[in-house]
Amino acid sequence: MRRKGDLPTKTCVTCGRPFAWRKKWERCWEEVLTCSERCRRVRRGSRRGGGGASAPGAMP
Ligand SMILES: [Zn+2]
Repeated sequence: MRRKGDLPTKTCVTCGRPFAWRKKWERCWEEVLTCSERCRRVRRGSRRGGGGASAPGAMP
């Protein structure tokens, strides 16, 4: 059962939303954890500074 356009999906570790494969990730899809550059920065930035307010997976 294969369909054209049936792209793999992942769940963003930052915002918790599902996102689909993109051309720009064709070489690093296994390493992609976030849906966008913005979430990627948020995730990186939240590591420093001792935040915790926007911890991933905290939403019900
Ligand atoms: Zn995201």
